Amino acid sequence: MAFSLMANAGGGDKVRVHANGNLEEAGIEVYGTIKGTPDREESIRLFKNELRLTKNFTGPPVRIFGFAKHHPPTLYQPIQGNSQSKKWTPRADDILPITFLEEYLIPIKIWIVIFTEIERPGDVEFLKKKAIDAVGNTNEIWERERQGIALDLMWSPSNPEVKTLSMGDPANVDFPANKEFLKFDCNNFSTNSQVRHLQKVVGFEKDMINVYYMLKVRGDGNDMSATSGVNCDRQKDSHAERGENIKIDDILPENVHDKRIIALGVKTDPNLLIHELGHAFGLVHHPRWKDEPQNVMYNKGSARKYLTEGQTFRQVRNAHSMLQVVYKKTLCPENPAQCLTMGEHPVSEFPKACPVFTKEDTTTDELSKINCPPIDYRLWDDGE
Ligand SMILES: [Zn+2]
Repeated sequence: MAFSLMANAGGGDKVRVHANGNLEEAGIEVYGTIKGTPDREESIRLFKNELRLTKNFTGPPVRIFGFAKHHPPTLYQPIQGNSQSKKWTPRADDILPITFLEEYLIPIKIWIVIFTEIERPGDVEFLKKKAIDAVGNTNEIWERERQGIALDLMWSPSNPEVKTLSMGDPANVDFPANKEFLKFDCNNFSTNSQVRHLQKVVGFEKDMINVYYMLKVRGDGNDMSATSGVNCDRQKDSHAERGENIKIDDILPENVHDKRIIALGVKTDPNLLIHELGHAFGLVHHPRWKDEPQNVMYNKGSARKYLTEGQTFRQVRNAHSMLQVVYKKTLCPENPAQCLTMGEHPVSEFPKACPVFTKEDTTTDELSKINCPPIDYRLWDDGE
């Protein structure tokens, strides 16, 4: 942890952080004005629950993005002209409050689909271990990257749940034979979608993200293989950042994809789950990552290790993130539906999603309309 030992001689402002329990570390990005000119500053210098700034913002900050280990990213935005800004002094030591919410623990259901005709001794235990490794890997990266979310696999004999199917004996005559699952494709809409079939024949928990380990999966790159995985989102790269409302039913109508479904091939790397969860939480293959194979949302390889602060913020913030749609977790904690204020703004005034291309040099004026840091914004170096 780094913080300045110097006295706050310049008289910069401070941000006071609140959380239930002690914060080991925290970081903020502040957008404000100095004598009418937009300016910004970031700080990870936490001392006695305060983050020190060196700049003297002469107007109240329009946005503060906050990050801390074991807490979801947060946003504070004072309203112009309220008591907060009246108290704002041009020269020094205004103290702004930021509250961090508790870590979100979200349940996840894992299904292992096994065919009696193909199964070899040890397959089930091998796949259970693979699933547990993938969950562990996801939690490890999320913790390191201050995502403030943890998966709860609810380990028990039934989770991951093993479903044994027989190719020659379809469970239900209304559906295609189970052998369809030998090659799983979210986009298969022949007579019955495979997604629908999967929900009915194997199982489905509507209030959770469901992960299915299948023999072969048609993945993002359109390749059908045992090392591919997919989130059954709708045309993810064109829709995912728009913030459209997603209707959640028990079983979705045909030809509608479902972000709650993730299919992984039996030979996938343990770091693919966090990538598909990224899609479920509204992230896309941004062009920025093509030179960053270690970014979780890079669509090739197996080097995935980190998320930017722009990404961790979006996974929690985007209105179409499964975190909000299924788990009802938002920046407004207790009762999202009736959450009236967020930094004193009615939540209805907020845009539904962060834009994909928020520029690095976004002005305060632009920012007041979008409320998101740039997608490739980093407060700490990658992996730190
Ligand atoms: Zn992908």
